[in-house]
Amino acid sequence: ATKEETKKKKKKIPLTRGEVEIKQKMTVEELARAMGKDIGVWGGGSLDHMASSAVVGMAQPPADPAVLTPRPPVVTILGHVDHGKTTLLDSLRKTQVASMEAGGITQHIGAFIVHMPSGEKITFLDTPGHAAFSAMRARGTNVTDIVILVVAAEDGVMQQTIESIQHAKNAGVPLILAINKCDKPEADPERVKKELLAHDVVCEEFGGDVQAVNISALKGENLMVLAEATVALAEMLELKADATGLVEGTVIESRKDKGKGPLTTAIIQRGTLRKGCVLVAGKTWAKVRFLFDENGKAVDAASPGIPVEIMGWKECPSAGDEILEVESEQRAQEVVAWRTYAEQQEKMKKDLEVIEAKQKEHRLEYEKKQQKLAHLTWRQRKAVLYKANKHLMFSRPKERTEMDENTLSLIVKGDVDGSVEAILNILDTYDCEDECKLDIIYFGMGDISENDISLAEAFNGVIFGFSVKANESIKKLADKKGIKIKLHNIIYKLIEDLKDELNSRLPPIV
Ligand code: GDP
Repeated sequence: ATKEETKKKKKKIPLTRGEVEIKQKMTVEELARAMGKDIGVWGGGSLDHMASSAVVGMAQPPADPAVLTPRPPVVTILGHVDHGKTTLLDSLRKTQVASMEAGGITQHIGAFIVHMPSGEKITFLDTPGHAAFSAMRARGTNVTDIVILVVAAEDGVMQQTIESIQHAKNAGVPLILAINKCDKPEADPERVKKELLAHDVVCEEFGGDVQAVNISALKGENLMVLAEATVALAEMLELKADATGLVEGTVIESRKDKGKGPLTTAIIQRGTLRKGCVLVAGKTWAKVRFLFDENGKAVDAASPGIPVEIMGWKECPSAGDEILEVESEQRAQEVVAWRTYAEQQEKMKKDLEVIEAKQKEHRLEYEKKQQKLAHLTWRQRKAVLYKANKHLMFSRPKERTEMDENTLSLIVKGDVDGSVEAILNILDTYDCEDECKLDIIYFGMGDISENDISLAEAFNGVIFGFSVKANESIKKLADKKGIKIKLHNIIYKLIEDLKDELNSRLPPIV
């Protein structure tokens, strides 16, 4: 192929897998329109989400129900501080020690699996607190299938218990109640269940569908009953996923390892992740070099619902970022470039909005001031302006100059109404009329014209122009008639010049 042909080929690579080719400079709105989507409802999330949907996600058709296979539930533990979330996660992890290799190191990667004797699996997210749950919800991604709500039996429903219920409700995720610290003598599980009624959490014994399990996270009591309740709920939810096709997943945690570089823990939601896959997440991408399970053991593949650690990222994506597989490294780079561009656009748009708002504010302020002045008499107006423009006031000359002239006739021209008005306002503050009269014979907008020259000639005047021009023929004409044209682009320079002109006509101080 000739150079020309290679060039053409390179240019032709489409940016979407679907029907729409994304031009490098397209805005998100233009893109949405091109795809026939309504920006308001399409993606329904952040720009990042829209960009990802636009660039890669939407083209993948929904999975065929026939190919769906069961997957483990993903569980998040929520509850009030000190009610025992961390202890429960630790105890659950400890139940797995037997299944781990002797001497194996349990490392915290943000998620782990509990293997049930029956062969079922449960994936627990152990990112501390609600942070991850909220972050993912905010991005419109929701990896959690079930929330285990931990309430301490001696403490009852507290502020964060209520918040946790709200989080779960908003996300449409069902609850299981774990009444903790039941080993304590003051524990009162029945009170907890009754208190929860007020928050629409109705346990089975009250005719509701929320399973409640009395546990002691500290002593490891009833943990398997809790796990079985989770499996039962998962079965009812019929959690299934498509383990074929392009990979889709979510970043649970992201960290930098000295030896391995950027690492993420991810939950795969669709497809099967393998070494060599090319992924994008946020504004970074990966060619998957290694996959590790929660025990740090290298694995060949990760299917939906299973936590996996991914090595091969260029940078760390953020928790909650959507992971999408693309066909090639080149494509991944294009997606990242496009998202970066889209984000900049959005930022620029926001910056511009701020500037425009400020300008509007200033304009309103100016108009208000003008309105106030409009109702004043000439003298009052002069007094106000005197105060405002004190620094621009005309001063009397310090030295004696020629005084054969005692009137200054002026022609004032400006580029816009505002500039002419500004000059006139300042001239208003002139108060040495006794010594030298100030006579504004004409003012208006536009470049210096022949008419201005004739006026200046008739009244023996001087022409002052702000941000206007005088063409060569006008300049020549003025020269011939001995008329001064003074052009300025900076208002205070024009005023200085005016002062000089006046001062040259004022009598000396005696
Ligand atoms: P978190 O803030 O919800 O993560 O709560 P922690 O797991 O840090 O637990 C707070 C305190 O409660 C710790 O001192 C735990 O040892 C204690 N604790 C947790 N679970 C139990 C339990 O089942 N019984 C008793 N007696 N104490 C517990």
